Amino acid sequence: MDFDAVLIAPRRAASVAAGHWQDRTINDYLAACVQERPDATALTALSIERQHVTRFTWRELARMADRVALGLSRLGIVAGDVVSCQLPNGWHLSVLYLACARLGAVLNPVMPIFRERELSFMLAHAHSKVVVVPKAFRGFDHAQMLQGLRDALPALRHVVVVDGEGDDSFEALLSGPPREDDADAAAILLRSLPGPDDVTQLIYTSGTTGEPKGVMHTANTLFSNIVAYAGRLQLSGDDVVLMASPMAHQTGFMYGLMMPVMLGAHAVLQDIWDPARAAALIREQGVTFTMGSTPFLTDLARVVAESGTPVPSLRTFLCAGAPIPGALVERARSALGATIVSAWGMSENGAVTTTLPDDAEARSSTTDGCPLPGVELRVVDGADADLPAGQTGRLLVRACSNFGGYLQRPHLNNTDAEGWFDTGDLARLDAHGYLRIAGRSKDVIIRGGENIPVLEVETLLYRHPAVAQVAIVAYPDARLGERACAFVVPRPGQSIDMAGMVAWLRQQKMALQYIPEKLVVRDALPATPAGKIQKFRLREMLLGATD
Ligand code: ADP
Repeated sequence: MDFDAVLIAPRRAASVAAGHWQDRTINDYLAACVQERPDATALTALSIERQHVTRFTWRELARMADRVALGLSRLGIVAGDVVSCQLPNGWHLSVLYLACARLGAVLNPVMPIFRERELSFMLAHAHSKVVVVPKAFRGFDHAQMLQGLRDALPALRHVVVVDGEGDDSFEALLSGPPREDDADAAAILLRSLPGPDDVTQLIYTSGTTGEPKGVMHTANTLFSNIVAYAGRLQLSGDDVVLMASPMAHQTGFMYGLMMPVMLGAHAVLQDIWDPARAAALIREQGVTFTMGSTPFLTDLARVVAESGTPVPSLRTFLCAGAPIPGALVERARSALGATIVSAWGMSENGAVTTTLPDDAEARSSTTDGCPLPGVELRVVDGADADLPAGQTGRLLVRACSNFGGYLQRPHLNNTDAEGWFDTGDLARLDAHGYLRIAGRSKDVIIRGGENIPVLEVETLLYRHPAVAQVAIVAYPDARLGERACAFVVPRPGQSIDMAGMVAWLRQQKMALQYIPEKLVVRDALPATPAGKIQKFRLREMLLGATD
């Protein structure tokens, strides 16, 4: 695969000179862990789905990574190949990344909620050679879904099934046979270690252009952020990090998989969100740090308050991924007895702003933080002129962690010659340089931290025979932040109802979480004289402001 990561080379010299790019890869960090603390616990993975807990020391984790790398090599994976995985949080995902890093292969994690529609696009676009899926997860047969997609994916050589029973099982192909003592093992593992500017991770965003975009990252782009993040949050190898937020998203991947390896810290992974189990894990494992979007914080604070059993080891909860209501931060702080750090970030550049652990409490309930080292922000108007503090405009970011580009879509990179990336978010800065996200210019709805690709869902609804016009907008929800509502104008003489809309979208085999949860049928939609639908008026209609 040819990775057109055009944003890397132009900034290399300056990023290295500034000390942001340290040229260390995950292989270097893992080797340091094995050397310094071989018998310390590296990872505890609770699988609620499989009713199982798995533990690895650093030595065991590195050995398993070698074994799986050799298995992948036998399947024909070489440097520059893409290995996709649709896995819940757990050791398989961590090990796969470490194994890919041994071979110079690129890991492409995809969300377990994705169905045929999203997967067929991503796996084809990435030219994935191997895909690893669970046999079943949350009652859905992923292995069967992949079998159904194979014919349309000519680059795909192998579907590997975790907990599979046949020749295609993860155990049979990758983790079972101990190959690391084979005569040729060392040669294979040392042959093509990736450099710090090679693409090692490919992660798709839902995007606003109608199709997902493949975000390419290197060791330097990811670790320049993780080093700064851990430094600011005062995290070290003595911390215990809980990750229940999906590792197939950038947040879970960077701070639940990569950061513990960088720090030599114990990672505790949870596959299905269950706040009571998370609270129990925090107590049992002595978890000191965790992160997630607002529903995770809401739920954890609620169960801890209701049970009356505190989580004294938890020092910090970092909340990001969607607008963070101030009242939630305050409630969670008192329920958890932990510092709540608010943050803003994107798959393209990791966490960009965070509050400081020592900040006055009000900062995390009223702002999304200030830039990490290596990051600059601008808030600009329509003519790209900087706006004064307090005024809302388009948010631009220039970050050492900015991605390498979108795979095969360099024209969408949205990064100018000086390295400024247009985020598609609207924001304002206060007099102290703290940021508050104030909305979005890009057309997504964030449902519980999950971005719904609005244009894509609208396009599918336009194909419905009864639909003349459609617009999807968000309405507020106490737990998930936003949910989606479809406004539809039917064709003359036709009608559509909620059940019909849901059945139609289900047939398209898209992620169920993308399906609108409300339908409003109208004779016409408010539009500008040029015919552009006025979504802000639809949002107001939903709030009952006008009708
Ligand atoms: P992630 O994997 O972190 O969810 P995405 O790239 O999928 O990253 O989503 C990033 C988008 O989420 C941002 O562009 C922004 O719209 C939204 N977002 C993230 N953090 C916040 C926040 N603190 N407040 C408001 N919106 C946020």
